Amino acid sequence: MTVSDPVRLDGLTRVYASDAGPVTALDDVHLSFAAGTFTAVMGPSGSGKSTLLHCAAGLDRATAGEVFVGGTALGPLGDTALTRLRRDRIGFVFQGYNLVPALTAAQNVALPARLAGHREPAERVLAALAEVGLADRAGHRPAQLSGGEQQRVAIARALFTRPAVLFADEPTGALDTASSRLVLTLLRGMVDEHDQTVVLVTHDPVAAAYADRVVLLADGRVVDEVTGDLTAARVAGRLAGLEAAAC
Ligand code: ADP
Ligand code: MG
Repeated sequence: MTVSDPVRLDGLTRVYASDAGPVTALDDVHLSFAAGTFTAVMGPSGSGKSTLLHCAAGLDRATAGEVFVGGTALGPLGDTALTRLRRDRIGFVFQGYNLVPALTAAQNVALPARLAGHREPAERVLAALAEVGLADRAGHRPAQLSGGEQQRVAIARALFTRPAVLFADEPTGALDTASSRLVLTLLRGMVDEHDQTVVLVTHDPVAAAYADRVVLLADGRVVDEVTGDLTAARVAGRLAGLEAAAC
């Protein structure tokens, strides 16, 4: 763990208020995501995976502990500074793509930069689409693209600002096997060829096997880590052990 790691979670705790009383979604999580590494976060439903990603990405606030992105602590930042840091340093991809239906693929990719007041040269937008294999789809609107193509546009958009880290919450959850494989191969390539840091939440051991490290959560805590020679079977075995222990 170094100060300059793209993301560091230092005792991250998130407690939600609910009618039934407080729910501790994350409980003293210590994790670091080094530059150019690909981490998968797994765990049973309700174990805190989405909460971890949302807090790490500055979409949600920690109740206790701290999140550091590129050495900057998020807790002390006001909403405007946090929004700016998120825009400049963090990419996020959701299961539902979240593209703007009325805009073309190219316009969707350029949108965050435009909202930040930058006019992006068309060549740079096209290059970003080419990187995800969609150079010939620049003028298509989301409804004219397959789910896998829409997710690749969302990835191009998320990476357009060259963020310190890309977070992806179940990005292949709605995709067929072939499209999933394309998206995962793309993410793996971003790590290997561009030193991109990627943190992926998934329930799919096949998807997790694309990562360098699998972090297993249960009840808001890190309970296991798997590294080295990841295979879907090995990941599934560790996950099954976890789910058996939870029963
Ligand atoms: P996962 O993504 O692993 O399924 P989540 O991070 O979504 O888990 O949720 C972790 C725990 O926090 C669950 O018990 C969930 O019910 C609870 N939780 C999540 N979001 C909220 C919220 N906004 N209000 C209250 N409880 C929440
Ligand atoms: Mg979730």
